Amino acid sequence: MSPEALFSTEVALGIDLGGTHVRAALVDARGAIVSCAKKRVEDRAPAAVVEVIGAAASEAQQGAAQAKVVACGVGAAGQLRGDTGVVAVAPNLGWRDVPLGSMLAKALGRPVRVVNDLSAAAWGEKCVGAARGERDVYTVFVGSGVGSAVIANGQLVLGASGVAGELGHTKWVPDGRLCGCGERGCLEAYAGGHNLIAQMREAIAAGESPKLSALGGGDLSRLTAQVLEEAAVTGDPGARRIYEQAVSLLCLAIANQVTVLNPARLILGGGVLRHSPKTFDRLVEGIGRFASATSRQGLKISPAALGDDSGLIGAALLARGGLLGSG
Ligand SMILES: [Zn+2]
Repeated sequence: MSPEALFSTEVALGIDLGGTHVRAALVDARGAIVSCAKKRVEDRAPAAVVEVIGAAASEAQQGAAQAKVVACGVGAAGQLRGDTGVVAVAPNLGWRDVPLGSMLAKALGRPVRVVNDLSAAAWGEKCVGAARGERDVYTVFVGSGVGSAVIANGQLVLGASGVAGELGHTKWVPDGRLCGCGERGCLEAYAGGHNLIAQMREAIAAGESPKLSALGGGDLSRLTAQVLEEAAVTGDPGARRIYEQAVSLLCLAIANQVTVLNPARLILGGGVLRHSPKTFDRLVEGIGRFASATSRQGLKISPAALGDDSGLIGAALLARGGLLGSG
């Protein structure tokens, strides 16, 4: 983009707040990223994280100094209290009831809209990604956790208290594995990336998984969802049990949501699926089998198109458009 074009460009500041990194971007009205910055979260205390967000925002603004920021939105990994800007629970950050919106408004000197990271990502995909032009969209991301977001009749569905779409915390095993949310038996406790790795470590410790022990080579940091998939394919008993359970639960959970919501398009994204094409194909096959026949007629299933940028773009566009609607 030429300096002349930037001079007249009105942009929104989009921020993606994860458990380990903060990204900030200036996003123009068409959803294009004009400038971007990334910072590592070393200290997860709210005040320290707000400082890191401020530093990332400044760096992004320096990258396009002549662009005029007209709005600011944050996509935060956690459960929010409606549209109040309060993060009720963020397991990755160890947060409970943090007034992120008001803290950031003070730090950045402008109103800040806080949305769930999956809602932001889904909105980004709807505006400029794989669900462009669709009005009924269901988005599922399988990364370190499992999240989903619902867009119905062109609007994000937030729910009465703002936590609609928490697919990762639907229960599948009564009194089952402990989840990061503090409850037991959640889908995320079996199929989220962090918990896949935890289960792999347990299988190695129990002597159930010779292949994983060998692949890890004594260095447990080498265990990833991709390693799990590879070991499962070779027939390693521990890897196979963990992988098959995760895939089965994801297929059932997503297929049931398709049956309930009847989306025109289902978007599947997140780090685990991006690095495991076989898992993506298994989910498509399972959803085709388990969703009700009528709900899957005409259903389009796509991989997320914007990669890690969907949340940044969506947070910026949501802030700019004021499209949440719940006030
Ligand atoms: Zn949970």
